[in-house]
Amino acid sequence: MGYDLERFVGYVNEGLLCCVCRDVLERPLQAPCEHAYCSACISSWLLHHHSCPEDRLPLDVGSLKPLYRYMRNDLNRLQIRCVNAGQGCEVICSLESLHTHEDECEFAFISCSNTGCPVQVERRGLEAHLSECNFRSRECPNGCGHTLLSVDQSQHNCVAELRAEVEMLRAEMLCKVEEVRREMESRLDSQRRHMVQKESQLKSEVEELKGQLSRVMCDMRALLGAERLRRQELAEAELEKRELLELLRDLQPTRNQPPADQASSDQHQGDLQSWELHAELSRHQQREAAALHASSLSLHSAQASHLSGPPPSPQLGEAARKGGTRSLTLDCIKRKSREVTVI
Ligand SMILES: [Zn+2]
Ligand SMILES: [Zn+2]
Ligand SMILES: [Zn+2]
Ligand SMILES: [Zn+2]
Ligand SMILES: [Zn+2]
Repeated sequence: MGYDLERFVGYVNEGLLCCVCRDVLERPLQAPCEHAYCSACISSWLLHHHSCPEDRLPLDVGSLKPLYRYMRNDLNRLQIRCVNAGQGCEVICSLESLHTHEDECEFAFISCSNTGCPVQVERRGLEAHLSECNFRSRECPNGCGHTLLSVDQSQHNCVAELRAEVEMLRAEMLCKVEEVRREMESRLDSQRRHMVQKESQLKSEVEELKGQLSRVMCDMRALLGAERLRRQELAEAELEKRELLELLRDLQPTRNQPPADQASSDQHQGDLQSWELHAELSRHQQREAAALHASSLSLHSAQASHLSGPPPSPQLGEAARKGGTRSLTLDCIKRKSREVTVI
């Protein structure tokens, strides 16, 4: 819809009037037939017609164009009274600057800025209204901390308000406490389950270690027994060695005084016997040393590995066999020494 012609001061060219509403053009558009209309007027006209309202020539929305520049300039220069002239505004301005003025016109009606207030006042009277508006809010004068609307102030009861607030906070807190309690319980439950599982695992590990320990103790006992046996054998061997050495010493003077006719052959045989005896003795000593070494080695290896199997019975058997061999050797040597004595 256009601007009311009555509001204009001075002559208005007829070409600046809308062909639909006959008022001065507002947001003008122009048809190919050069007739001009307000944008709103021609849009609603073309909803039901397909022609120019002035000369009935065919027309559609797509063929509408902006107004010629010289006509726009003429339109913008027209002098018009403020829309609030009825309320007392005496401003007359160009059509171009009309909106700028109306946006800040002191006589324009505006809504109160307090939320919920339905009052419409002139812009110039807003301040006076705000000071007495029923929807203005302020702190409770009794100091309860609530913000009150003027309209509610007479019914405001500080104690009741505070009690309601405390009740609400209490309910909120109870709710939170319950929530935390439930969370803690679930966490404790899971930890308890974990502990029980861990405990049973540790118990089974302890049982296994006990088993290993008893096996190791058994091995140790067997090895200590073997060690004792070896030491005993060693002592016996020492004894035999001493006996043999004594025997050797006894042989020496006998060999040094042979009869004169058999001197050379006896000398030769005596040397042979003595050499055999020495060789036997040194072999015997080597075997003893080897046996002792093997014994200490097996003891060490058993101590190093606590998970060793059953005691090494083959070694014990070997020791017994060696003992047998040794006594055989001793018998042989004794026999030879007797032969030498006879000779
Ligand atoms: Zn119009
Ligand atoms: Zn036309
Ligand atoms: Zn005004
Ligand atoms: Zn108000
Ligand atoms: Zn209060």
